Amino acid sequence: MNILQEFDTIAAIATPLGMGGVGVIRISGEKAFEIIEKIFTNTNFEPRKFNHGWIVDNEIKIDECLVLPFFAPNSYTGENVVEIQCHGGINVVKNILNLVLKNGARMAEKGEFTKRAFLNKRLDLSQAEAVADIIHSKTSNFATVSVKNLSGVLKEKINEIRNEIFEVLSRITAGIDFPEDVAEPEYSYLIEKFEYIINQIDKVLSNANTSNILRQGVSVAIVGKPNVGKSSLFNALLSLDRAIVTDIAGTTRDVLKETLDLGIPVTLVDTAGIRGINENENKVEAIGIEYSKQSLNEADLVLFVYDSTQGIQKEDKEIFDLVKDKNHIVIANKCDICTKRDTDTVYISALTGEGVQELKQTLTQKVCDIEPENLDFVTNSRQQACLSRARASLDQALLASNIQELQDLISIDVKASLLALDELTGELITDDILDNIFDHFCIGK
Ligand code: GDP
Repeated sequence: MNILQEFDTIAAIATPLGMGGVGVIRISGEKAFEIIEKIFTNTNFEPRKFNHGWIVDNEIKIDECLVLPFFAPNSYTGENVVEIQCHGGINVVKNILNLVLKNGARMAEKGEFTKRAFLNKRLDLSQAEAVADIIHSKTSNFATVSVKNLSGVLKEKINEIRNEIFEVLSRITAGIDFPEDVAEPEYSYLIEKFEYIINQIDKVLSNANTSNILRQGVSVAIVGKPNVGKSSLFNALLSLDRAIVTDIAGTTRDVLKETLDLGIPVTLVDTAGIRGINENENKVEAIGIEYSKQSLNEADLVLFVYDSTQGIQKEDKEIFDLVKDKNHIVIANKCDICTKRDTDTVYISALTGEGVQELKQTLTQKVCDIEPENLDFVTNSRQQACLSRARASLDQALLASNIQELQDLISIDVKASLLALDELTGELITDDILDNIFDHFCIGK
């Protein structure tokens, strides 16, 4: 969609298509009220107050509904918006949408409601992206921190940094444009300011790794020789958090892989799980070894398990050699029947659950720089790239200030850093970038 395009009236089903208590059809645009007045029996609307009535196609009743009106600019999109709440059956929802389309609306594109909210300045781009994150979040932590983004925490942080850069640029520009009246800022002032702003950008970027992990998740492989308790640990971690996020296609809980919410989305791979699914033991073992090695290669973190009642034996050492150069945690299992303790080892009992909660924390610390619970905001790769560009330009400006370069030249880099941040918030954005962002939304949002 072209940014300058006149907005027409759009409509979509806002709830998932399926059987449910309620279905919502959303209409946004100039003709929203004109359309609802043609198809609803109770059209004496007051802002944000439900009207109860029937959606009708001429004389035919389509469904008994509630209709919630929002008058521009006080709506999600900033336009006139009408939300129809009907019964949540697939066909009734579709019938109402078709009626709305027949009466003058156009089917909304993916994310078009949120795109209009952005173009009408109801949200900045970081908040619009937060809406998609909330909808797609795989863990409760990610949903919580995405809501912080929606409420404007990242936006405010970026604006603070932008204001600092703007202040420096204004002083440099005043010195250049009005040399008789305004003195150029001292180089020591510029150096101090650039160092401070770079530090602020680094602080925002410091949670990039944790943000990416919360978004994409990590793969964790459990390895160890037979009978040390890998499958038991797999099951213990699963029962730690019953809110399993997704089933990986083609697998089931008691086989190999499960994705679960351990504060971060974790795909847990039990390398022992392959045993016992084939009659031919040797063949199974070969597959098992191959599979274990492949899982190891793909894993972001390896849980190396040994039996604490037996200590580390030759076979354990051979497996550990495959693991030692990877990010790993050494786990001594069966601590319920063993009293011996070493430091550097996590003691657990997969049977009784002792130490499993602590293991979860150690696991999170091993892959994240920051506890996901303590994040104030998240950044995505687009935002991180904009911040890195802003930082690189400020690095150049700092370098130039250190050698007392002409301030005219320094101002070019300072302006570039400002533009990079404007791209982050969406102040300066192209149609292509916008389309790319909103393509990741669902229809109706
Ligand atoms: P895997 O071959 O490494 O997957 O090991 P399993 O999970 O199948 O466990 C092997 C045996 O050890 C089973 O009899 C389990 O009940 C037992 N086991 C596993 N974890 C523990 C534990 O923490 N304590 C005790 N006492 N037994 C355990």
